[in-house]
Amino acid sequence: MTTLESYVCGEWKAGVEDPRPLENPATGERLAEVRSGGIDFAAVVAHARDHGGPALRAMTFAERGAILRELSSVLHEKRDELIALSTSNGGNTRGDAKFDIDGATGTLAFYGGLGEKLGSARFLPDGDGAKLSRAARFFGQHILVPRSGVAVHINAFNFPTWGMGEKMACALLAGVPVIEKAGTPSAILAHRMAQLVVDSGLLPEGTFQFVAGGVGDLLDHLGPQDCLAFTGSSGTGAKLKANANLIDRNVRVNIEADSLNAAVLAPDVDNDNEVYNLFLANVVYDMRQKAGQKCTAVRRILVPEHKVAEVRAELVERLTAVKVGDPADESVQMGPVASAAQLADVRAGIDRLAAAGEVCCGGSQAVAESGYFVAPTLVYVSDATSDVVHADEVFGPVATLMPYSGDAEALVDHVNRGGGSLVASVYSNDKDWSEQVLLGLAPWHGRVWLASDKVAEQTLAPGMVLPQMIHGGPGRAGGGEELGALRGLSFYMQRTALQGDRGFLSRRFGNESE
Ligand code: NAP
Repeated sequence: MTTLESYVCGEWKAGVEDPRPLENPATGERLAEVRSGGIDFAAVVAHARDHGGPALRAMTFAERGAILRELSSVLHEKRDELIALSTSNGGNTRGDAKFDIDGATGTLAFYGGLGEKLGSARFLPDGDGAKLSRAARFFGQHILVPRSGVAVHINAFNFPTWGMGEKMACALLAGVPVIEKAGTPSAILAHRMAQLVVDSGLLPEGTFQFVAGGVGDLLDHLGPQDCLAFTGSSGTGAKLKANANLIDRNVRVNIEADSLNAAVLAPDVDNDNEVYNLFLANVVYDMRQKAGQKCTAVRRILVPEHKVAEVRAELVERLTAVKVGDPADESVQMGPVASAAQLADVRAGIDRLAAAGEVCCGGSQAVAESGYFVAPTLVYVSDATSDVVHADEVFGPVATLMPYSGDAEALVDHVNRGGGSLVASVYSNDKDWSEQVLLGLAPWHGRVWLASDKVAEQTLAPGMVLPQMIHGGPGRAGGGEELGALRGLSFYMQRTALQGDRGFLSRRFGNESE
C-alpha cells in the first residue's frame, strides 16, 4: 500500500503513526494511506523562514508572477492525470474534477498575470498619500510589504487542488513561503499536485512545503510574522482559532468555514421569465455538483408562497432524474460523498431536517450496496423561521425548500438567520425589491449574486468562486476573506504608514514618479 509522503525541509518523508486509509468512495477500495508524526515542525517553520522567505522577497512581483503562470501550465499539462485521481479518490465526475483542477490553474494564472502587471516592484502603495500638516511637505503614504514569516494553509477535502492553488497563489505572489496541509480523504490528488510543484523546480527551496497527515504541533511554532489560513468546518476552525500560541503571539488567522447559502426567487418572477428557468437549473446543478460538497452550494431555497408547490414539483422531477453512481462511468451525473464519515454525517443531517418537515425526494436511506452514495434530497419545511433549517450545514446533495410571503424585509430576516454565509443568489427583475434585498443581505454575506432576465444568459453559476472577487463570509462562514484580486495579498502583507518628506515618500513609495 502506498504511503503518501510529506515534502518538508527539502525531502519527501513518510509519517510514522498508524495509517489512515484513503479510499475510492464509489467502491470502498483502499488506494493509499497517510501516516502522521515523525516531522519536526519547528524545523519546517525555520526552513520556510530562513530559506523560502528571503528567496521570495528577493524577487519582484513580476518574477513571482511568472513562476505562478508556469506552475499553472505545469498542472494544466497533467490535467487528465489529475482528473483521473479526482475521480478515483474524490468521487468526482469529470465535470466536477475539472471544476476543482481548472479552478486551481485558472487562479494561479490570474495571480501570475497580476504579478506581471505589478512589474519590478517589491511592495505595493496602498491608496493615495495624504498631506498631514498645514505645511505641504509633511506627508503620509501607506504601503504593503511582505511579512517575513510563513503561511500555513490547512485545506478542506472537497477542493484539493483549487483550495491549495488559490491560497498559495496569493501567499507566494505576496512574497510569503507556504506550508500546505491537505484534507486527508482526498489527499492523493493534493499529493500529486505537490509532487508536480516540487518536481517543476520552479519554486526556490523552502518556499513550498507539503504535509500529508496531521500537523502535530506546527501551530505552536508560529509567531507574529506568520499566518494561518484554514478552510474546513466551523468546529475545527473554532478549535484552531483558540490555539493558545496563536492568541498569545497575535498570529494572523483567516477562517473559511460552513455556510448555509440561500437561493431566493422573488415574487415578481413568472414562468415566462428567463430567470425562472435559470433559478431551477442553478439550484439543481448546485445540489448535484460535487455531490453537494461545495462550500458555496445552495442549502436553503426560498420561494414565494404562491409559487412554492410548482417549484417543489419541478425540482423533484429534475432531482430524481439525476443519474447517481460511480463517476468512472461517463454517463453518471453525480458521484458519492467523499468518505464513510461524510456519509454518516449527511444521513444524520437529512434526518434532522426531515424531523422539521417532509422529504420530497431522496432521503437518508442507502442507495447502493457499496460506496458512499446519497440521492439528491429536497426537504420541504413550511416554517421559514424553523431553527433547524438555519442551524446546520448538511455537506451533501441536500437542500431545504421553504415558502415566504414575498415581502423583502421578511425574506432578508429568513436568509440572515443562517448566521453569516458565503453567498446568496437572488432571482428578480424588480429593481426596487432587489435593492432592498441586496442591502439587507449584504452585512451577513461575503457575496450576493443577482440574476435578472437581462443577464440570465451571461451569468456564471452562483457557486463559482472567481479570483477577481472576494470569497469568504461573516459569522458561521468563518469571518474570513480570500481572493478579490490584489485584496487577496493583504493578509500576507504588513500595511505600514510611512510619514515624512513628501518629495521623498511620494516618489519612492507613492504613485508619483521620480
Ligand atoms: P474539517 O474536518 O474541519 O477539516 C478541514 C481541515 O482541517 C483538514 O485538512 C483536516 O485534516 C484539518 N484538521 C482537522 N482537525 C484539525 C486539528 N485539530 N488541527 C489541525 N488541522 C485539523 O473539514 P472538511 O471535512 O475537510 O471540509 C468540509 C468543510 O469545509 C465543510 O464544512 C465546508 O463548508 C467547509 N469548506 C468551506 C470552504 C470555504 O471557503 N468557506 C471551502 C471548502 C470547504 P484531516 O483531513 O487530516 O482531518
